[in-house]
Amino acid sequence: MKVIDHISNAKGKTLFSFEILPPLKGKSIQSIYDGIEPLMEFDPKFVNVTYHREEYVYKTRENGLLEKISIRKRPGTVGICAAIINKYNVDTVPHLICGGFSREETENALIDLHFLGIDNVLTLRGDAVKTEPNFRPDPSGHSFAKELVGQVVEMNNGQYLMDDVSLDPTDFCIGVAGYPEKHFEAMNLTSDLMHLKAKVDAGADYIVTQMFFDNKKFFEFVDKCRAIGINVPIIPGMKPIKNLNHISFLPKFFNIDFPEDFAAELMKCKTNDAVEALGVEWGIQQAKELKAAGVPCIHFYTMSKSDSVRAIAKQVF
Ligand code: FAD
Repeated sequence: MKVIDHISNAKGKTLFSFEILPPLKGKSIQSIYDGIEPLMEFDPKFVNVTYHREEYVYKTRENGLLEKISIRKRPGTVGICAAIINKYNVDTVPHLICGGFSREETENALIDLHFLGIDNVLTLRGDAVKTEPNFRPDPSGHSFAKELVGQVVEMNNGQYLMDDVSLDPTDFCIGVAGYPEKHFEAMNLTSDLMHLKAKVDAGADYIVTQMFFDNKKFFEFVDKCRAIGINVPIIPGMKPIKNLNHISFLPKFFNIDFPEDFAAELMKCKTNDAVEALGVEWGIQQAKELKAAGVPCIHFYTMSKSDSVRAIAKQVF
């Protein structure tokens, strides 16, 4: 079932959902199940599975020259989605990115999903390859998520590439990303919101936000979206902070701020356990407030580790 149908069937009740990462190449799928199992009692309506593009590594050849090799460390998004549906009978939302995909490869990926009966997709641009300073699209791919939304909409209308006849239409529910504290490359929040509106106008059915720790920023973001005519459901994304590294990594990598009172408490933490306990406590308050405000769903970034999310969900769902 589509994400937007789950939301409308819930009739105002806040749903629970979460995101997992494919395991590192060569690891068994059991690690995925181990992360999902403890969260099933909260009746997730959908599980998102991230997509990880290629990275470049350099290997020294026998002659001393360096060889540039492209590898994907976390393949398997589509297979994992199919396995989850099969094992848990829950809907999945595969992430699909522009980076590293030609339009034809995108079309083929969507055909695979359609054949598998997967009718949700979260469409994203993706980030730059780790060793490159800026995002570079595939020469025959998309530069922005909006264009990817457009391709999915065309397939939903039965228009495939290179064909001028109408073919078997797909029926994907399309999600896009939104950033309450602005995407790190955007000139300012206003321009970012205009680009978000363009994705919705192109056919996106709902928005999932980047993580945030300050609900006020989320509520302001929703108000600003509504004010410019973005009327689709906006799902807040939440991540419980888990260790001392997160304190500097999350603000830097995701362009987010910790609110003053949370930052003051984090500064007192000396161990990973202390950070994790505070992350759960903060997450419970955040999720309770979001639920009381009537958000359609709370979407948790688990990084495939379920303990903290479970502790929060137990108090909230
Ligand atoms: P876009 O919407 O294309 O926007 C990218 C930037 O370009 C923004 O700054 C925007 O303001 C600007 N922009 C948009 N259109 C234009 C235009 N026409 N002209 C000029 N500027 C423009 N990454 C992964 O690799 N795999 C994942 O599975 C994944 N999952 C994610 C899930 C969520 C919920 C979120 C929030 C992010 C996820 N990401 C993932 C990260 C995401 O790919 C990056 O944040 C990426 O840098 C931007 O993706 P986007 O889809 O928001 O891009």
